[in-house]
Amino acid sequence: MGAGPGGYVAAIRCAQLGMSVACVDEWLNRGEPSLGGTCLNVGCIPSKALLESSHLYATSSNDFPDHGINVKGVSVDVKAMIARKDRIVKELTQGINGLFKTNKVKLVHGHAYVSPGKVVNVSDRGSPHTRESLEAGNIIIAAGSSTVRLDRAPITDGYIFDSTGALDFDSVPKTLGIIGAGAIGLELGSVWSRLGSEVVLLEALDTLLPSADKQVSRAVSRSYKQQGLDIRLNARLLSATVKQKKVHVTYEDTRGAQQVKFDKLVVAVGRKPNSDGLFGDELGLEIDEREYIHVNNYCETSVPGLYAIGDIVRGPMLAHKASEEGIMVAERIAGQPSAVNYDLIPNVIYTHPEVAWVGKSEYACNSAGIPANIGTFPIAASGRARAMGATDGLVKIVAHQETDRILGVHVCSAQASELIAQAVIAMEMGASAEDLALTMFAHPTLSESVHEAALAVHNRAIHVKN
Ligand code: FAD
Ligand code: NAD
Repeated sequence: MGAGPGGYVAAIRCAQLGMSVACVDEWLNRGEPSLGGTCLNVGCIPSKALLESSHLYATSSNDFPDHGINVKGVSVDVKAMIARKDRIVKELTQGINGLFKTNKVKLVHGHAYVSPGKVVNVSDRGSPHTRESLEAGNIIIAAGSSTVRLDRAPITDGYIFDSTGALDFDSVPKTLGIIGAGAIGLELGSVWSRLGSEVVLLEALDTLLPSADKQVSRAVSRSYKQQGLDIRLNARLLSATVKQKKVHVTYEDTRGAQQVKFDKLVVAVGRKPNSDGLFGDELGLEIDEREYIHVNNYCETSVPGLYAIGDIVRGPMLAHKASEEGIMVAERIAGQPSAVNYDLIPNVIYTHPEVAWVGKSEYACNSAGIPANIGTFPIAASGRARAMGATDGLVKIVAHQETDRILGVHVCSAQASELIAQAVIAMEMGASAEDLALTMFAHPTLSESVHEAALAVHNRAIHVKN
């Protein structure tokens, strides 16, 4: 049930393992059935397409002169940018149709509802009538999540948007407010800020990216400030109303009530699991107090033969986590002893610089009483970063003081999303900081910063004072 990165990957893996598979999905993109769920239609992919386009624009406007490149009259055609994003989404979502055909996955468009006896009833969206019933030995629920809405800032055509609306503006708003400075707020805030909006992010917490390493969070906050992103912490939304073609926002911070006006407002305060309307009480499926389907480490629900994966279950709402759970479940149904390593899920924020981390932070180790050695390397000391003109950030490695095993890696840098994969591989292999220190890295690369941070764990970094 569901063809997002959880469901479509699970369907393909089940088919590869010789099962007869049907995948039911109800997503409509501009009125047409479209596979890939949130991630491909309104999430990971369209946001990265716009991040790429806006980065190119900002680079050509701000950085080209420093490279001795003179370009005059650089301008933005928002409609063309959005059309490119839509083309990429279409190619990728249609690609999944192709993969389903190749793997002989039967695709059923419609709303799925599970009844006892492992029956999935499919209806047309909004219709109470079952159009088709499918019986299955096993059912994987991968129905994903949707945006959390705020009564204090109701979605209002042309003025107040959720993340999906913010991927489809037809012009650059002069002023843009964003409620929530999490992954979506920072990424979409970056897109529109690079294109010329004055962006203000109102964040309820007192820290930016509280799950990231504190040093990394401080470093990236400085970069955001230099870019002109105005991030206001401790800011609790009180109201947002549309008056005279502006969104009037009232919020409360440590100094009291504040007022600010925007041309558009985006609400990006998290997502909630789509567990409503999937099954009735008679199924006996356990749901927790936050409406996630309750599962164990193997994504088994309280009902034998029924599994749930991805955003609809506990853990970070990330596409790669959903996909890995899909593969694990498919393989376990086929009798294989697969498992997901929940300790090593990489997190990435695709701003500039990017922020990426995996494993434990220094703070988490200290709080848990785990003795740790720390190695840090400032990106500014990397020759490649200087050549690129991307010198903000650092790489930080946390290793166990006694065993030297790498416990966490935290990166703030251009291409941190790629650098972090090296850390995940090393940690999956149980590497020590010394293992990385003994490894040869090509010069000049950003990856050398990972090497230097590993050397720094034992005060042996070459290009920085230890
Ligand atoms: P979904 O992708 O939500 O898919 C669920 C599918 O199930 C949908 O197609 C839905 O229509 C269908 N469905 C639901 N109920 C039914 C039903 N009853 N019957 C039939 N079909 C049903 N994650 C990352 O890892 N990296 C990123 O860069 C990233 N960027 C993001 C940017 C944005 C703007 C957003 C909103 C999210 C982003 N995410 C990102 C999160 C990522 O999109 C989700 O974690 C991921 O899509 C979850 O996958 P899923 O398969 O669990 O659910
Ligand atoms: P989020 O949980 O990352 O951030 C929401 C932010 O809003 C939090 O910092 C929270 O403190 C703040 N907030 C909540 N209520 C508020 C209020 N009333 N006023 C002000 N601030 C408030 O959620 P998101 O950014 O909406 O993203 C949703 C999900 O999608 C996340 O789970 C994320 O993992 C996923 N996602 C991932 C990526 C990525 O991997 N790069 C990108 C986008 C989205």
